Amino acid sequence: MKALLPLFSRPSHYLGTEINSVHKDLDTVRVHVALAFPDLYEVGMSYLGQKILYDIVNRHDGFYAERVFAPTEDVAAVLRQHATPLASLESDTPLGNLDAVLFSLTHELCYTNVLYMLELAGIPLRAARRDQGHPLIIAGGGCTFNAEPLAPFLDLMVLGDGEEILPEMLAIMGRGKDEGWTRPELLKALGELPGIYVPSWFAPDEGGRVVAPEGARVEKRIVLDMNDVSFPTRQVVPFGKPVHDRFSVEIARGCTRGCRFCQAGMIYRPVRERDVDVLRDIIGSGLAATGSEELSFLSLSTGDFSALEALFLSSYSRCRAEQVSISLPSLRVGSVSEDLMALMGSIRHTGLTLAPEAGTQRLRDVINKGVTESELLEHTATAFRLGWQQVKLYFMIGLPTETPEDLDGILDLCLKVAASAGRGAKRLQITAAVSPFVPKPHTPFQWERQISMAEIEERIGYLRNIFRPHRKLKLKWHHSHMTFLEGVFARGDRRLAPTLEAAFAKGALFTSWSDHLRLEPWLEAFAETGIDPEAYLAARDPELPLPWAHLDSGVSHKFLLAERRRALEGSVTPDCRYDACRSCGVCTLDGRKSELRRQAEGHEIAPVLNQASRDQERTDGAEEMPAPKGDLHHREQRFRLWSTETGPAMYLSQPELQCIFEPVFRRVTLPLAFSSGFHPIPMLSFARALPVGVGSVCEWMDFFVREHMDPRELPALFNAELPLGMRAVRVDELPCQRRAPISVRERYVVGLGRVEDRERFETRLASFLARKQWIVPKQTKKGEPGEVDTRPMVAGATAVDGGLEMEFDWRGLYVSPVFVLQAIDPDFSLLTATLTKTGQYFDGGE
Ligand code: SF4
Repeated sequence: MKALLPLFSRPSHYLGTEINSVHKDLDTVRVHVALAFPDLYEVGMSYLGQKILYDIVNRHDGFYAERVFAPTEDVAAVLRQHATPLASLESDTPLGNLDAVLFSLTHELCYTNVLYMLELAGIPLRAARRDQGHPLIIAGGGCTFNAEPLAPFLDLMVLGDGEEILPEMLAIMGRGKDEGWTRPELLKALGELPGIYVPSWFAPDEGGRVVAPEGARVEKRIVLDMNDVSFPTRQVVPFGKPVHDRFSVEIARGCTRGCRFCQAGMIYRPVRERDVDVLRDIIGSGLAATGSEELSFLSLSTGDFSALEALFLSSYSRCRAEQVSISLPSLRVGSVSEDLMALMGSIRHTGLTLAPEAGTQRLRDVINKGVTESELLEHTATAFRLGWQQVKLYFMIGLPTETPEDLDGILDLCLKVAASAGRGAKRLQITAAVSPFVPKPHTPFQWERQISMAEIEERIGYLRNIFRPHRKLKLKWHHSHMTFLEGVFARGDRRLAPTLEAAFAKGALFTSWSDHLRLEPWLEAFAETGIDPEAYLAARDPELPLPWAHLDSGVSHKFLLAERRRALEGSVTPDCRYDACRSCGVCTLDGRKSELRRQAEGHEIAPVLNQASRDQERTDGAEEMPAPKGDLHHREQRFRLWSTETGPAMYLSQPELQCIFEPVFRRVTLPLAFSSGFHPIPMLSFARALPVGVGSVCEWMDFFVREHMDPRELPALFNAELPLGMRAVRVDELPCQRRAPISVRERYVVGLGRVEDRERFETRLASFLARKQWIVPKQTKKGEPGEVDTRPMVAGATAVDGGLEMEFDWRGLYVSPVFVLQAIDPDFSLLTATLTKTGQYFDGGE
């Protein structure tokens, strides 16, 4: 696949050579798998689950986990055209040659992308059609608690936490290889592990529901103590900007707030926190290894972490000194103290995000949100007082028992939040982000009806009307088509498998991207496969078995039914962290046996908290807080770093290079000078952009430092931290004040390995050089037709070993040297030739 890189859009996303990527000698690898993410690189590289598993597997000698993401459709077309199968990123091994491909299923709209990746890899889609020579196709992630529509395409699913079970699975696969097990023997051995679901062992009945063998239920896997499993500190540093560009540290897993619509809050129970000391080590090593400019504390309810203030304070010291911002997503109203909010605001004022979810107290009680209006307004008033100007409020529409008054309540609440700002907030912006409710399996609302697309559009239309007169309020809403499909597949069964195949065949891909989403192929697929999608959105009878009844999240049916009843009564169930245990079934407490009997043997499964009560005392860290050394904006010296960009580094675009250098400077801990302004950024400037796919042995970039440094020591520092193909050659000191000149002439070596290419190119070049003009069509920057004379751009050409050295003259105009070479020889291609910059001249010298 890598041989086709010159033909790919964003080729860097297929390189696999990022800092901290793992490369092993394949001869020493016993079990070789790919961690597949069924969406684009920029989405998958933001997903923490893949980073955790990548690290866990690769810690083991003999096991190797690589990454693979869904390629864009234009890249897929290139692969198909060249009959090249989809391959792993790091070693370019076709997925079909691996022992297993493990997909992460994070939402239902990615299901056709799983089929897309299998098809591109040349792997039969249906598990029943795969044989001994094919890899096992495995899925994990939150969706596996009901991925029944995808079940016929998967050999195995993993329910629950993956840290412990994945190495166990790979060990069994290794034994199977050594002992020559058949595929059914391997599945049998893997299927005996707690947490493994083998869909082919469970047959569906005529109604599409799975009939479990006598008494068989698949229980989820739980890591009892988060301190017992490692966390990745050497996280792969992506090329370019992923959706979330930060070092994320999972401070806790699970949430017991008990929001009745929230699937994550049910399936990831019980709450398990990491120790603060463990987290401090992770944060220190992680920031040093990634050079990230943002640290994020991740958990389903970050504000509930029992030692949040102590953790924040100790991290704050380090982050302030290194210009790293800290983000605390998933903060609940009232879950952080004013002191903590003040510190958060002092680092960076990103917008404040809160999730009241419903506009009225009645409906908030129905969903068990546990947030009162007065708490919310107190929280926003504090935030405005501390300098926040932008607040985003998340709401749902179509919740069980919703009335028109609840829709009006959304506007009322937004207006009250705006009023809580007082007169101080001049750039006030309140955004209401509205998503339609989707009933999810394993929640108290799993039996409820989902409103139709027409109802969603009608209610959104109503909200748009009532919001329109309010200038400071903004309304955003989720696409009704996506909600409709998510609802069908979230509570789907195996009868939907042919529908997925049909929709995929009709081009339904990247369905969670609004610019890709087309409903027509889905509607046609439903019709062709005899499926009434509305039936999947209807209310379910609590007396009848559900398609996911054989999959055990640990939370009991009895508890979910009781919570449903309490919802309809409007009764709130307090968080069991601070209140009585509600016997949901997931913990072993007070001598009561957990539902997860096999795992509980010899253990006590219970919520693991750092302290019995919330720790909101300012403990340590604050006193140690060092300010950044010296004036952040002071420019002591200016340096020019000369480097090479060859091999894989040729495929990095200019914006990607900029994204690479900022973390490199943090990792080598250079005292960079920053710009002034509200968001200071490092002062870096780069040479003219090198075209993607073109190499160079003489690229430069300039930077300023705040403290005096010896330039001779710098190349070695950089070389320890640059990705493969980039190498620091030397560092020159320049006067601080002078503007960086741009080169006026550049030398390139054109490598033409094949004799026929070389002869053809030389013939065409000779006729080019014999002319005074060589005018070719070229679009203007505005995309209008135009033309350009390329002849003055070529100053000369000399034969060198393996090709030609050409000198380009950019004094009149600069265009890509590849464009000039293709003007000379339309058959010139970077697939068969190489182009490397070897020199550049400025006004006044080289
Ligand atoms: S078993 Fe009790 S303590 Fe454990 S998560 Fe459920 S309700 Fe909370």
